[in-house]
Amino acid sequence: MAKTIIVSNRLPISLRHRNGRFEFKPSAGGLATGLGSIYKSGENIWIGWPGNTVDDPEQRAEIILELHDLKMAPVFLSKEDVEQFYEGFSNETLWPAFHYFTQYMTYNAEHWEAYVRVNQKFCEAILKKADPDDTIWVHDYQLLLLPQMLREVLPNATIAFFQHIPFPSYEIIRMIPWRKQLLEGVCGADLIGFHTYDDMRHFMSAVGRITGLSSESGYIQADNRIINVDSFPMGIDYDKFAKQAKSKKTQSIVREFTKQVADQKLIITIDRLDYSKGIPQRIHAFNQLLKEHKELRGKVSMIMIVVPSRDKVQSYKELKEEIDLLVGRINSEYSTLNWVPVHYFYRSFPFEELSAFYNMSDIALVTPLRDGMNLVCKEYVASRTDQTGVLILSEMAGASKELQDAVLVNPNDQQGVVDAIYNALTMKPAEQKARISSMQESLKKYDIFQWVKVFLDRIEHVKEKQAELT
Ligand code: UDP
Repeated sequence: MAKTIIVSNRLPISLRHRNGRFEFKPSAGGLATGLGSIYKSGENIWIGWPGNTVDDPEQRAEIILELHDLKMAPVFLSKEDVEQFYEGFSNETLWPAFHYFTQYMTYNAEHWEAYVRVNQKFCEAILKKADPDDTIWVHDYQLLLLPQMLREVLPNATIAFFQHIPFPSYEIIRMIPWRKQLLEGVCGADLIGFHTYDDMRHFMSAVGRITGLSSESGYIQADNRIINVDSFPMGIDYDKFAKQAKSKKTQSIVREFTKQVADQKLIITIDRLDYSKGIPQRIHAFNQLLKEHKELRGKVSMIMIVVPSRDKVQSYKELKEEIDLLVGRINSEYSTLNWVPVHYFYRSFPFEELSAFYNMSDIALVTPLRDGMNLVCKEYVASRTDQTGVLILSEMAGASKELQDAVLVNPNDQQGVVDAIYNALTMKPAEQKARISSMQESLKKYDIFQWVKVFLDRIEHVKEKQAELT
């Protein structure tokens, strides 16, 4: 029987080196959970990079064996691969381009060569496991060339691709010297998915203009087959967040934390360190709020969690310094002995504590300058089991297309954000409830499990359609 192979740059585990051995901790992230029922069943498997560089053949053999029991297979990357393919082409060319930060893009031929080489490495690792009729579901922008590489060797396989980050306008894509190869690479798939309709539209337009392939209402006509392109907005494990919010553990953390902040209104912000998240702009807006509304000083605090990320890349180092400076400035200007405007944490938190932060905060301020989806805003809504709270959400996040009952803002419009925070602080409970409950309904319905199901059902549908046409 044909099996399903999931492929992503990172395997859903974290690997730790302890007492001369490797320890594996399965990831609890939403995607890993959603795909759990797929890769763990039957002969199915998840293939990807375990996240560390391992050169010793014995250690590699040990890792292969242990991952085998977890239904995973590793693709080993060298230090050079990581620097040039991952940190280089993926994170310094594609990531800034796809998030409209063209000023951070680098155009480095060596990085490109590494990108081709590593996609080829993934292809070889898959070919060791794949049969001709298998379904192979490739994830994200690090592996754009992989669908076509696979297609050449496995012409009858079912190949699907999902991109978790935005797909920008043709005007941006055309700046990348290797744009044609990248688009032709993705077009090896039978089904190509994005989070939003706009991403999909941009992709279709870029494919038409750059590769010359023709397309019509969600279908691209390749040489000998049709390719379906559509939007599949990814959901969260809704029940997990709702259940955790009500748990004794989270409630006791909430009591302990709230004791320390007295009866202040709390605004939660949670992001990975990234220039796409608009963190400095958000601090500026909060500063402006305290300047304009003196009566709020001492009464409202922002809890700002920044999760360390890509800290070897220069632009991220600079961003971290900018945030440190801005938080220092606002706190030194307004703090009193019993109040701090911004509680700033540069680290990650365990799930129970994250849940407590969502639970105790009156407002979630989610204002990325650009975000493929953004899960934090969905997690906040799912955690509001008493249906109070206000979500302020950037129009530039993919999630804003679904969460129309959030207070939507343009993150570049500082005054608009200031006014939104002020209105949220004074919003009546009845309006909070109406907005939160309507968003909860849709998040509950389109959770991560539904997302996986809809995507996999569509793959089957595309194959049927292709068969009808041949
Ligand atoms: N998150 C986490 N630990 C933390 C803070 C955040 O695991 O201390 C998680 C959070 O729950 C969310 C994810 O990190 O699921 C961030 O996803 P999002 O789509 O918002 O942003 P991304 O980092 O993927 O750009």
